[in-house]
Amino acid sequence: DQRNPNEPEFLQAVTEVVEDLIPYVIEHRSDFIDLKILERMVEPERVVSFRVAWLDDKHQIQVNRGYRVQMNSAIGPYKGGLRFAPDVNLSILKFLAFEQVFKNSLTGIPIGGGKGGSDFDPKGKSDTEIMRFCQSFMTELQRHIGPETDVPAGDIGVGTREIGYLFGQYKRLQNNFTGVLTGKGIQWGGSYIRPEATGYGLLYFVQCILDYNNESIEGKTVAISGAGNVAYYAAEKAIQLGAKVITLSNSQGTIYDKDGFTIEKLIYLGTLGRDLAKYAKKYPATASYHAKENPWQFKCDIALPCATQNEINEADAKKLVKNGCTIVAEGANMPSTAEAIKVYHQAKIHFGPGKAANAGGVAVSGLEMSQNAIGQQWSPEKVDHRLKLIMENIHKTCVRFGKEPNGYVNYLKGANIGGFIKVAEAMKAQGVV
Ligand code: NDP
Repeated sequence: DQRNPNEPEFLQAVTEVVEDLIPYVIEHRSDFIDLKILERMVEPERVVSFRVAWLDDKHQIQVNRGYRVQMNSAIGPYKGGLRFAPDVNLSILKFLAFEQVFKNSLTGIPIGGGKGGSDFDPKGKSDTEIMRFCQSFMTELQRHIGPETDVPAGDIGVGTREIGYLFGQYKRLQNNFTGVLTGKGIQWGGSYIRPEATGYGLLYFVQCILDYNNESIEGKTVAISGAGNVAYYAAEKAIQLGAKVITLSNSQGTIYDKDGFTIEKLIYLGTLGRDLAKYAKKYPATASYHAKENPWQFKCDIALPCATQNEINEADAKKLVKNGCTIVAEGANMPSTAEAIKVYHQAKIHFGPGKAANAGGVAVSGLEMSQNAIGQQWSPEKVDHRLKLIMENIHKTCVRFGKEPNGYVNYLKGANIGGFIKVAEAMKAQGVV
């Protein structure tokens, strides 16, 4: 705490991991204690913070702060998204970068962990303002990244449009067309299925949990939060697999559709921007809009938080359990508070933590890097198939390290230990650095 004052999210993420790891290393790997592997893992290899000055449409100068947290490169180049949101600070980016190390290790692809972004708020900005901001941001970031050093991607507030502006500026400054960012457009080095990958991968992970318990997703009721990239494709895949998706939301409120979204309704939702209230006006017979409320009050079998950190607190978790929810799988990063996770574990419901359940996005980013390196573009079917295999392998790793004597799978513990071992072995092999 003293070393990282004012970093509650980072301390929350570290506590969640070390609570599982400390008993494990004491029992099985005292060599890692002697080598201070954990102490080294919680210290980023490098953090850069920089000024991003840019001109708005009124020719006024705006100043934001940019960051890149390069957390761990033991098993590969740093990899992790960029987040543009007004609440971005070092604590949030350090928590995300720390989680990313374990997640990337779990994918089986040789990538280290990083994260970055800015306190820039893209909401309400014009397209040209977004472009000027991205160009200014990349003008500094370019000296710290590279296809074999650090390969950023998108996150909240950073989608294909922003990646395009960032990539264009990198290419111009370096005179080099290379796979330095992932999430690129399909015509200029992107991978098929990358936009869908986090949401689809989440559903493949949920399917693994259900298969493991001899159950099927068909007919299950699913509550999803968020209406962004992850939530949208999670909903699409859930519907395709025969589940009934009853909610989607954003920071202003929640849509509840008692009959469930169809693909057609989902496409309509995708046209609304942030004004979700319009959905209930279009489908008044089945849908209602709940301003300032989250989805966790609605009865569901499966809850998929896909918006942001700490969006399910203890009271929300209790509501979910009371209403019969048996699976919580995280599309977002750390959407459940520590108290909420305790509620899931006490109730013995299946809990898929973000570092396992949402790893599909970075996994396909890893596949994008491979395609860039060999100058190829794989078919959507091939990428989707590989994504499915990766999610199945992550599930197996979680079961291997997280299964308790009574048969209950503690996926959080499984993901923490499974993700840790590979990175720790690499750090051990590479000496004291
Ligand atoms: P987007 O920017 O596409 O969408 C974010 C969604 O979450 C929006 O609907 C937004 O609503 C909502 N949201 C944001 N903040 C809040 C809040 N404080 N309360 C309620 N709703 C909120 O981001 P993504 O879908 O890409 O990311 C969502 C989550 O998934 C993040 O935690 C991200 O780190 C994680 N993730 C993303 C991956 C990816 O591939 N994109 C990979 C792995 C994890 P509004 O528009 O009103 O702000």
